[in-house]
Amino acid sequence: MEVLTENIVIYSFIAILFVSIVYFYVRKEKKNSKIVEEKIKIAKEEGLHEPVSLHPVVDVNSCIQTGACISACPEHDILGILNGKATTINASHCVGHGACFHACPTHAITLCIGTEKRGVDIPHVDQSFETNVPGIYIAGEIGGMGLIRNAVEQGKQAVENLAKKIDKHIQADYDIIIIGAGPAGISASLTAKKHNLKAITLEQDSLGGTVFTFPRKKIVMTSPMDIPLYGKVKLRETTKMELLDLWNNVLGKNEIVIKEQSKVESIVFQDKRFVVETTSKEKFTTRNVLLSIGRSGTTRKLNIPGEMSEKVAYRLLEPELISDKKIVVVGGGDSAIETALLLMDQNQVTLSYRGESFGRIKVGNNQKIKEAIAQKQIDVRFNTNLKSIEDDKVKIVDLLSGEVTDLENDQVYIFAGGELPTQFLEKAGIRVDKKFGEAVLKHD
Ligand SMILES: Cc1cc2nc3c(=O)[nH]c(=O)nc-3n(C[C@H](O)[C@H](O)[C@H](O)COP(=O)(O)OP(=O)(O)OC[C@H]3O[C@@H](n4cnc5c(N)ncnc54)[C@H](O)[C@@H]3O)c2cc1C
Repeated sequence: MEVLTENIVIYSFIAILFVSIVYFYVRKEKKNSKIVEEKIKIAKEEGLHEPVSLHPVVDVNSCIQTGACISACPEHDILGILNGKATTINASHCVGHGACFHACPTHAITLCIGTEKRGVDIPHVDQSFETNVPGIYIAGEIGGMGLIRNAVEQGKQAVENLAKKIDKHIQADYDIIIIGAGPAGISASLTAKKHNLKAITLEQDSLGGTVFTFPRKKIVMTSPMDIPLYGKVKLRETTKMELLDLWNNVLGKNEIVIKEQSKVESIVFQDKRFVVETTSKEKFTTRNVLLSIGRSGTTRKLNIPGEMSEKVAYRLLEPELISDKKIVVVGGGDSAIETALLLMDQNQVTLSYRGESFGRIKVGNNQKIKEAIAQKQIDVRFNTNLKSIEDDKVKIVDLLSGEVTDLENDQVYIFAGGELPTQFLEKAGIRVDKKFGEAVLKHD
């Protein structure tokens, strides 16, 4: 009898322990799912849930919720677990590392480009990276494949391919003009030098491309890569500055000058060669063109006096380093509003917008800017345009009354929209196809 009672106590204890474990596990799962659900809701409101380019697609039938994909992803909140299955949250922030693809033990992840709802424009290229326009090549992220390592590899391969076909009988200033100096363009410039090609690289902004725009503290994830004229780089985790220093050093040692602040406006085929023209009306002729222009597009300028001043910028890199300044932000879209919001605590910010109210902006931004206006943290001036930029002030014109006012000013940020890379490609005659969720990397 005593033994029986003892057994009942032991079994009851085990049963209670088991039920408690299951209860607490399920409770934790539910709690985590709720958090992920909330994050997805916010991502949808902010337009970040729908992917813009490469992104993971989870096969829910194969997913067994190990969470390996989430731990492997170097970016933040791209994936989460919802009701026991992996799912995307801020899919538009995916840069295509593919770490989730490799980490999933059940092969439940495929890396796709575009979705049924949002197609992605990809230029048509053959195996040598040549487009349908003979002589124009494409490398890097504009071709559909993200990541620094891929861009470096493609820049190198594209130039190696075209180097075999150069026709010296054609009269032109250059063998190749490289447009864009991100990882792909830098690698292409080095390869051109290696093959003794006469080349010039034109960059609308600064050397480094998208990498230049990373925050100083961002950890850059990469895989070992082969930099032409430098050799193997075995970095896996690095920083923006380390990468930029490396590129500057190898370009300097090889006496390669990248022409910054040179935006290419048109590429025209004329007399068997290409005429490449920049916005400052400089013209160059070339036998081949390599487009390594990335996917970010090009910013539109206001074309007003003083816009060339050093205090004018078209993006905000490190808001935490800017304080006690009188700042004018121009524009009425999300970028302008986000910039004004980031700067308002430490600076005096005026937002100038030519419209009479903000148009299609993210719900979160709409709410925050309304609060900032109510709290007088940002001075918003609708129906205004910037007329000119001077050393210590700007002139703002009221579009309704025509009145011009002077505003004391230290810095100007302009967000006036821009041209998509697709428009640029099509202007040059390159065929662009839309991809609606096509698999780029999948398990057999
Ligand atoms: C937030 C973020 C984080 C990322 N993190 C990582 C990471 O950790 N690891 C990683 O491997 N990748 C990362 N990436 C992806 C990586 O930055 C890109 O895949 C890579 O920079 C693509 O290189 P690219 O040379 O093809 O294009 P880009 O780097 O975009 O360079 C294109 C250049 O072309 C110029 N250009 C465009 N049009 C013209 C024109 N008409 N005339 C002249 N110049 C022009 C642009 O100004 C730009 O400098 C990240 C991307 C983002 C947005």
